[in-house]
Amino acid sequence: MFSYRHAFHAGNHADVLKHAVFVHILDYYNRKDNPYWVIDTHAGAGLYDLRSDWALKNGEFVDGLDKLLGAASMPPMIERYLEEVQHFNPDGVANFYPGSPWLALRALRDQDRLRLFEMHPSEADVLRQNLKQQGRDAVRQTTLYQADGFDGLKSQLPPPPRRGITIIDPSYEDKQDYRKTLQAVHEGLKRFATGCFAVWYPLVQRREVQELVRSLERLKTPWVHASLTVRKPTGDGFGLHGSGMFVLNPPWTLHAELDATLPWLSATLKQDDRAGFTLKQQAS
Ligand code: SAM
Repeated sequence: MFSYRHAFHAGNHADVLKHAVFVHILDYYNRKDNPYWVIDTHAGAGLYDLRSDWALKNGEFVDGLDKLLGAASMPPMIERYLEEVQHFNPDGVANFYPGSPWLALRALRDQDRLRLFEMHPSEADVLRQNLKQQGRDAVRQTTLYQADGFDGLKSQLPPPPRRGITIIDPSYEDKQDYRKTLQAVHEGLKRFATGCFAVWYPLVQRREVQELVRSLERLKTPWVHASLTVRKPTGDGFGLHGSGMFVLNPPWTLHAELDATLPWLSATLKQDDRAGFTLKQQAS
């Protein structure tokens, strides 16, 4: 069992990109009344206390969420994302950070469902407790599996309403995660060709990153691919200098929204002159 705990990283620059895109996708799915499912293969704990020792250890949110909070004006995509974060911080101070399951729960209507996979026993326990505190509706709409999300995804597809968003957000602590992510996407598309699949990946100095991206870009399904670099890679090759979001069957609005957002986001989160972004798409 690996030791990754998302609490150390909550609200960092990678969460900002991932969750801004995720909120946009959820908003898009809510434009229609038809029900949908959200399947989160790597759920984490759900909600994070930014005042905890873990969050404060490296203070990663200082170079992510905090930088946005200080901005005078911002693109609508970031405004929407911050609205969601601020919902969990009614006092106006960003003490809590919502992970992907919490952003999904906020978006779900009565008719929608959430399926969560979290393999780490302690993290799954925290998630279960957090979920109970959200109340009866959240518990009714959600099924939590303490299991491998790569394996479990197959059992959820296609979702009964034939509308669905799958978010695949491994820690990539195990380098097999790159291969498993690609395989999950392949199998997911076979079972549910019209589903939206959002894949997060880290920009670290590993050849597996480029291999994953190249393989995803070769898929015949429409996609939007955004990456955000905040600084130059460290000399020792460790650490996250950026991240990417690869969205298959994206909302048709996503590319334009990212086009209007990434220059601002990159300028706001930049840590040195190697900061930048990329944005590509393959239309249908
Ligand atoms: N998606 C979350 C969010 O955006 O708030 C963060 C998830 S975190 C990057 C990855 C999580 O996946 C960790 O909590 C880890 O314990 C869990 N995990 C690792 N391998 C897993 C697997 N094979 N299946 C399900 N969960 C796994």
